[in-house]
Amino acid sequence: MLPGTGRGGGRGSFQDLEATSLFCPRCRKAQPVRRRLLLVLPTGEKYSYLCAVCGEEVGSKTETGPINGVINTLD
Ligand SMILES: [Zn+2]
Repeated sequence: MLPGTGRGGGRGSFQDLEATSLFCPRCRKAQPVRRRLLLVLPTGEKYSYLCAVCGEEVGSKTETGPINGVINTLD
């Protein structure tokens, strides 16, 4: 338990824009996808999306936390 790290709180209102179906090149049509967590990075979590029918990877996404997802400082 680390005080000051905002994870766990405030996520209830976070709107998830997650895709539920993506075009699968193997099935040659849009299919429902399963999300699999690949990596946990200091800057976010990397997910890959797998076709729920054939298991082909149809996309990936790095999801940054709600804290540093927007702000980029210029050094
Ligand atoms: Zn497929």
